[in-house]
Amino acid sequence: KKIIIAIDGFSSTGKSTVAKQLAAALRYIYVDSGAMYRAVTFYALENDLIGVDFFYKDQLIKHLERIRISFKFNAELGFAEVYLNGQNIENEIRTLRVSNFVSKIAEISEVRKKLVEQQQEMGKEKGIVMDGRDIGTVVFPEAELKIFMTASAETRAKRRLEELQNKGQEVNYQEVLKNIEERDFIDTNRDDSPLAQAEDAVLFDNSNLSREEQFNLLLAICKK
Ligand code: C5P
Repeated sequence: KKIIIAIDGFSSTGKSTVAKQLAAALRYIYVDSGAMYRAVTFYALENDLIGVDFFYKDQLIKHLERIRISFKFNAELGFAEVYLNGQNIENEIRTLRVSNFVSKIAEISEVRKKLVEQQQEMGKEKGIVMDGRDIGTVVFPEAELKIFMTASAETRAKRRLEELQNKGQEVNYQEVLKNIEERDFIDTNRDDSPLAQAEDAVLFDNSNLSREEQFNLLLAICKK
């Protein structure tokens, strides 16, 4: 029987890597909900609605109906890439610039409402792995399997640094660590923080696990 698998946790815990692997192994759809928040952030940056010293939040809310996010499977990559109004923005949303603004965008309740509705719509097709912050609590409280991933901020910063450097971006460890700590802070310290561990979620600390070890452990849980 095909199920819904919800994977939540802090940024750069390796959620998406393992979620992609699981989806491929189980022949499920994979949806990166963070990519959707990043897509809205990219839109806001491109349209000068947010910057270092300004944020036209009301304007952005008015623009929301013009923002159409979709996913299209790329067979070569083996996962679905994110599109904004028909334009592939998979690479554009992975920059430190987008990361630095995304928590502010994700705080807006109108943004969350829009994206959660779209995510729930995608979940109607069972056999889905979705990762994010609020998937097991808000998006799919009924998910058959919920996993909550954690890893130390240092472990995550190292992984993220490697990822960004592999993409040729010039960043240093301190900068990446600072961004992760700031996002953790914003993501956990507001009243309606999206990041929460569902009561029925499996807690999974992968600080000391290789990708392969994580995959094998999680696949075993999925097959139970
Ligand atoms: O997972 P990723 O780091 O790409 O997510 C980017 C940001 O989007 C997070 O830092 C968080 O602020 C926001 N987010 C969210 N709810 C989700 C997924 C992501 O608020 N379900």
